[in-house]
Amino acid sequence: MARYIGPVCRLCRREGMKLFLKGERCHSEKCAIEKRNVPPGQHGKDRRPKIVGYGLQLREKQKARRVYGVLERQFRSQFEKASKMKGITGEQLLSMLERRLDNVIYRMGFGTSRAQARQVVRHGHIQVNGRKVNIPSFVAKVGDLVEVREKSRKNPTILAARDATAHAPCPNWLDVDREALRGRIIAMPRRDELVQIQLNEQLIVELYSK
Ligand code: SF4
Repeated sequence: MARYIGPVCRLCRREGMKLFLKGERCHSEKCAIEKRNVPPGQHGKDRRPKIVGYGLQLREKQKARRVYGVLERQFRSQFEKASKMKGITGEQLLSMLERRLDNVIYRMGFGTSRAQARQVVRHGHIQVNGRKVNIPSFVAKVGDLVEVREKSRKNPTILAARDATAHAPCPNWLDVDREALRGRIIAMPRRDELVQIQLNEQLIVELYSK
């Protein structure tokens, strides 16, 4: 399954803001945005050009894609699905991205970053409603019980992530039992709980509606 394997702090510098792609490092003073918030590239430090119109729409889409670690084709196909749903397309898109299994694991605190949570899923440590699911893009629905599988409950990566994220608030749409390494989706995510960063999803809809 394809994924971005280049330097991730560079992506934050491109957007000029923290995208929280690296777990604990993002909250420390080692964060590249704290140290050197300039666009990547040889001339990055010269100036950050004012972005308008199409450029603004493109940046919002790239930001959303990078936060959730989704490549263009998959992001586009999720947009197509969201546009066929009832309700506001932009919010439906973010809701689907938020309910991706890798993001649910991250939000539950069983991965310090979405990338780590994705690996936890890919390595077969997770089950949904009692059945193993190793597809990070699996979209969970209200009522689903997501848990670490019995044989993975002593996995040091998952336990270390749970301890490291003990301070992180859990969103209201999840009911998590951190000790038992399980949680249930009890509601659809509300817009104000969706992303940790500033994001205008309407610009993404405008970009794809051209
Ligand atoms: Fe790197 Fe995280 Fe800081 Fe982004 S927020 S620059 S990924 S350390």
